[in-house]
Parts: sequence; structure tokens; C-alpha cells
Amino acid sequence: MGFDVDEVLYPWVATLRHHLHTSEGWPLDRMPEPTRYGFGPDWGMADDAEFLAHAVATARAGLLHTYGDPLEGAAEVTHRLVDAGHTVHVVTARRYDESYGVNAVLADSTRRWLERHDIAFTTLDLELDKTAVPTDVYLDDRPDHVDALCAAGTRGVLMDSFHNQDPSCGRERVHSLAEFADLVEEMSANPATC
Ligand SMILES: [Mg+2]
Repeated sequence: MGFDVDEVLYPWVATLRHHLHTSEGWPLDRMPEPTRYGFGPDWGMADDAEFLAHAVATARAGLLHTYGDPLEGAAEVTHRLVDAGHTVHVVTARRYDESYGVNAVLADSTRRWLERHDIAFTTLDLELDKTAVPTDVYLDDRPDHVDALCAAGTRGVLMDSFHNQDPSCGRERVHSLAEFADLVEEMSANPATC
């Protein structure tokens, strides 16, 4: 089974907000909790290029995948799954164009952050395509990733998040890591229903 990182295990938006507040002086009330994935304009960013520049700056500042605490239950749930005999694949799309020179740092900081917070995992991969690492069930917060996983034969499950609240979004959804672990264990106990 597998986990995405950003907004499933790791508080990516909170880290970007922390960087912009502490390094750029942006007031916190300029950066409300987002309600959509492309939330840059809601925080007063001009375009995708500015958003990307801030994300890369957060990485270069050494904050991305270093700052912040895991989402609720990350350590407990991953240990619970490993202890139950599951192989836990962590797959993150956290890659930027190689010209920025931050990908190696992000890969290293992601691994160290997972270890520092006692998050159990078997493998860690940085892949834009979440189907690159075969899994039987996988948790991601992006509907398009869930669709790709399902198309590849994985039971793709959507982590409820700020940007996927559209009521027409009909993917299988959980609201917590613990709820996902329950689903995985139920799936293991009843493989014929998967
Ligand atoms: Mg994510």
C-alpha cells in the first residue's frame, strides 16, 4: 500500500505560509486556509510563476519537508500498518525542474523528516506518476492522481483536503489517516471484495 506526502502526511501549505510570513513578512491574515488547489491568487499571488518561485524559495530556505509536524496520526497509523505486515510505499511528486537544483535536497529532507517523526515506511520514491510504484491501495489528496491509480488497477483513495471539497468529486474518500488504515485492514481481511 502507499501514501502520498503533501497534505496526506506533511503540512505543505502550512510550511509555505510559515516561509512567506517569516521570510517575506506577509501577514498571516493574507494567507487564509485555502479552499482550492491553485490558491495562489487567493493569497495575492499574480500567477503560477510567482507561486512556483515562492515554493522553490521555501525549498532553498531549507524549510520544505523539514519544517512542520505530520498530519494527525501519521506515526501511529504507519506503524500500525507495518506491524500488521503491510509494505508501506511513500511516493511524492515533490520534484521541480532540475534547473532549480533543489530536488536532491528535497529527497534528502523528506527522508529525514519521515524518520525524525517516526513515520514508518518501506520505500520512498519521488515520482510525478504515482502509479510508477505498484501498490494495491494508495492514499492521495489529488483527485487526478486517484483517478490514475484506479485506472492502473490500484484502489485509489482520496484524502479529504482543503482543495477537494467539490461535492461532485465522487472518489472514495477518507477524512483521516486512521480511517484509511481501517480501510486497508478491512481490505486485507476481505480480499474478495477489493
Ligand atoms: Mg499531496
